[in-house]
Amino acid sequence: MERGFEYVIVGGGVAAGYAALEFTKRGVSHAQLCIISEEPVAPYERPTLSKKFLHPESPARLPSFHTCVGANEELLTPTWYEEHGIELVLGTRVESVDVGQKTLLTASGETIRYETLIIATGAKALKLEEFGVKGSEAENVCYLRDLADADRLVNVMQSCTGGNAVVIGGGYIAMECAASLVTNKLNVTMVFPEAHCMPRLFTPKIASYYEDYYQSKGVKFIRGTILSSFEFDSNGKVTAVNLRDGSQIPADMVVVGIGIRPNTSLFEGQLTMEKGGIKVNGKLQTSNDSVYAVGDVAVFPVDLCGRIRRLEHVDSARKTAKHVAAVIMEPEKTGEFKYLPLFYSKAFSFSWRFYGDNAGEVVHFGDYLGTKFGAYWINNGHLVGSFLEGGTEDEFEAIANATQLKPAVDDLAEVGRQGLNFAMTG
Ligand code: FAD
Ligand code: NAD
Repeated sequence: MERGFEYVIVGGGVAAGYAALEFTKRGVSHAQLCIISEEPVAPYERPTLSKKFLHPESPARLPSFHTCVGANEELLTPTWYEEHGIELVLGTRVESVDVGQKTLLTASGETIRYETLIIATGAKALKLEEFGVKGSEAENVCYLRDLADADRLVNVMQSCTGGNAVVIGGGYIAMECAASLVTNKLNVTMVFPEAHCMPRLFTPKIASYYEDYYQSKGVKFIRGTILSSFEFDSNGKVTAVNLRDGSQIPADMVVVGIGIRPNTSLFEGQLTMEKGGIKVNGKLQTSNDSVYAVGDVAVFPVDLCGRIRRLEHVDSARKTAKHVAAVIMEPEKTGEFKYLPLFYSKAFSFSWRFYGDNAGEVVHFGDYLGTKFGAYWINNGHLVGSFLEGGTEDEFEAIANATQLKPAVDDLAEVGRQGLNFAMTG
């Protein structure tokens, strides 16, 4: 079987959903756009999986969190795609792509031709086996990347109420899942190799605030070591986690969040790769004129940082996706992608945002014994990054605006004294 479309998006996650909405806003015709996704459901807001999806009371379930509700836009249900003449090919893996021939082959044996291809394949969770540990297939070991993982995690979690959960990793998945596991009445131990949680972003002072709170909720932290193996019962279920420091922790379930790898393999040897992703220019165009890349797989120039970056965050997936639709539909009117990186997280009653680049020296501000505090990153005499916990919408907007402007800073201590006012009055 063979058919063709003007525009094809490979991958049906966050970026695909936001691109679809923007394509329709810019007048895409019926039967011009096709989205092919390995997942069996229409694009949804992936961040919900580690937050409201795991709540013990009134958890979020589809269709309530399809894209693009996360950015207060329309809810794109399967019916929406049908009504807009967008072909949604679900539960179908793209097996190969030939960018020279402008064709792709799906697992169902179909060849699809395109004029323009958008790569939105996201990323996959790194497995413990990559670090020499066996056991990922055990029924009580959970990863969290897609809806099937989240369904499984909920089932395992509910079967372990009152038991012990070991969380491997100290990053986003680990912090958000640990909070949910506690709320679901499990005893949680987090294990990670670094000296503190969220080492890619948090300073020791910021990390210590959250770690103290998690500890007050009963979470135990085992820092500076990694797991070396699991103990299994006769059914192959994990019963304990052995650590490299020789200790052993009993486990009724394990959640693993040890990072991701972008899904680039379809394009290895065909497109220019860098920093583990697909390199694109300011128009999000790859080394092949007919192929664009967005979301977690794309490595794009970020002016504010003065370098190319691959970002693994939903705001960048949404905005690169919207921009690519504009570039393709209205090339004359659309400039280069200008982006201020935004990372955020929510767990327990916390809510923080970070804007910009966490490079250079750090000045902390605010009340680290209370509920509102933050930090500024100053690099080469300019503000380049801002973090705020517990801000109002106006305050978050103020730190975003201040960071975007990159004001000169010569007195770090003064900026620390001014704290949030530095951004609010800047
Ligand atoms: P994805 O949303 O991962 O979508 C990729 C899609 O492509 C998937 O549906 C996949 O099945 C499909 N696919 C891959 N290969 C193929 C193939 N060969 N054929 C067909 N289909 C294929 N970021 C934040 O900023 N804040 C948060 O709070 C936050 N929470 C998160 C919580 C969780 C549990 C996870 C996993 C991520 C979270 N993120 C968060 C990150 C954010 O979700 C990602 O940055 C975003 O989803 C990336 O969008 P994407 O479209 O590039 O990739
Ligand atoms: P991450 O990169 O945030 O954290 C990975 C962590 O794994 C590291 O901090 C380290 O502590 C740990 N680690 C690495 N190797 C290890 C090993 N051998 N043993 C034990 N620990 C090890 O990745 P993640 O938490 O897995 O998140 C996956 C993806 O989902 C990321 O792209 C992340 O941005 C995204 N995500 C984002 C959010 C958010 O932005 N709020 C929330 C959830 C997930």
